[in-house]
Amino acid sequence: MIDRNRRGLVLAAGGALATGAVGGMAWAAPSDRKLGYAIVGLGTYGLDVIIPQFKNCRNSRLVALVSGDAAKAKSVAQQYGVPEKNIYNYENYDSIRNNPDIDIVYICLPVSMHAEYTIRAAKAGKHVLCEKPMAVSSAECEAMIAACRQAGKKLMIGYRCHFEPYNLEARRIARSGEIGTLRYFRSEHGFNFRDPNAWRLKKALAGGGSMMDIGIYALNAARYMTGEEPSAVYAQETTNRNDPRFREVEDMLGFQLEFPSGVVGSCMSMYSASQNHILLVGDKGRIDMEPATAYHGNRMWTGKDGREREVTPPPGPGATQFAGQLDHMAQCVLQDREPIVAGEEGLRDLRIIEAIYQSARERRRVVLKA
Ligand code: NAD
Repeated sequence: MIDRNRRGLVLAAGGALATGAVGGMAWAAPSDRKLGYAIVGLGTYGLDVIIPQFKNCRNSRLVALVSGDAAKAKSVAQQYGVPEKNIYNYENYDSIRNNPDIDIVYICLPVSMHAEYTIRAAKAGKHVLCEKPMAVSSAECEAMIAACRQAGKKLMIGYRCHFEPYNLEARRIARSGEIGTLRYFRSEHGFNFRDPNAWRLKKALAGGGSMMDIGIYALNAARYMTGEEPSAVYAQETTNRNDPRFREVEDMLGFQLEFPSGVVGSCMSMYSASQNHILLVGDKGRIDMEPATAYHGNRMWTGKDGREREVTPPPGPGATQFAGQLDHMAQCVLQDREPIVAGEEGLRDLRIIEAIYQSARERRRVVLKA
């Protein structure tokens, strides 16, 4: 289990900006109609972070729970007014197809379960919001996209930073020319993992180590801040395999991203130290964010040479980044639009992560297919 306080602190502040994203928020919800969500997985994120956010939503409401723990599900259902008939387990999950209360399924399970539960939801005729990283491999991402397309259902990935005001404002400033031509993107994301038995440290359940879980914030931010796709990566791994936490997965992974415009990205992902930072350096100034992608409490500065001016961003698209994300998916369903962070966004990250792992393994620069 992840240390809740640690994670709250580290991830608590920041966010990223949405890819054309919050711009995409420009469309207003047509009505106050609320679509029904089923939360799959009552762990730290689903139960402690997402479920309490429905009270902040305009177009989303909690209507069902899917859990392997019947007693826990019953108690959560009572607390949040979910009818007992709308409690499912992993075996009878497919029968959600017969429940018209459920419009959208939100997958908050270990990564290795994302593909199966997304595909089963699509086959049951439900739209899917799936947590990041999208899956353990790009092949699984492709299967998830195909299943949702075949079922005519929307698929969105839980990149909450695309709904987070600081990240949105950093992206706007970077693209406004205020810091000149962007030359360099830097980001370190990590925390000190304590529990050696956690599923995040099992390769079969997590797909990888820090890169899959926390390094992905740096990678995704590099892409949405620059608005470019990397053309090549170079990565280096540093893992103490005698540390019981890192028998199966990596600890530190430093990776360089080459972008077509000449912007260079330099990132560090880690499971043995805490850091949550994004720095954008242009030829006329810089944007510094720390913490950058936390749940709350993010901070940001701009300046010619340093942290000269602290920036308070305008409000984001939702009361919180989580509510903004939940309502964005609901609005996409209501208005038949593609989510700004659709399955293809998760697939792009997974393809780059696979190239990063390959680069670290083979100790060479890996060119990415256009
Ligand atoms: P967690 O360990 O707290 O919860 C996992 C849930 O899955 C639990 O309810 C557990 O009972 C259930 N589960 C079912 N089968 C399991 C198995 N074989 N092994 C372990 N658990 C099993 O994890 P979490 O922190 O809630 O993470 C869930 C998902 O949410 C992950 O995909 C994670 O990457 C994502 N997440 C996203 C953010 C974010 O900021 N977007 C933050 C935290 C977690």
